[in-house]
Amino acid sequence: MTYSVEKSDAEWRAELTPEQYAVLRQAGTERPWTGELLDEQRAGLYTCAACGSELFQSGTKFDSHCGWPSFYESIRPEAVELIDDSSHGMVRTEVRCANCGSHLGHVFPDGFGTPTGDRYCMNSLSLGFTPEASA
Ligand SMILES: [Zn+2]
Repeated sequence: MTYSVEKSDAEWRAELTPEQYAVLRQAGTERPWTGELLDEQRAGLYTCAACGSELFQSGTKFDSHCGWPSFYESIRPEAVELIDDSSHGMVRTEVRCANCGSHLGHVFPDGFGTPTGDRYCMNSLSLGFTPEASA
């Protein structure tokens, strides 16, 4: 897969905080219940913390009680890349930003009660948030 945004490891290290680098570029996971976007309730747009690409709309965010920001659908199917991940002895689907290849989190088929039944379980550190301008 070739991404629109391609940067060297040194460039990513220089641009991101150490915490963001560990998640976005090394597929780490932030501790649950620590992310600053977990309780974000405002209307707005969620973007990739690495490249700024649009990823999720606030209307698809739901309270999954899993400790990470959760969405039932990406803003566009082509906004994210889904990859089979069998690390850590589990079979999961990794979610990456389709624009820069950075790790965002995983998607699980247990978004019960949502329109899609999917739960995009995202790291706060992987996301930026832009509140909608109030009228
Ligand atoms: Zn990105």
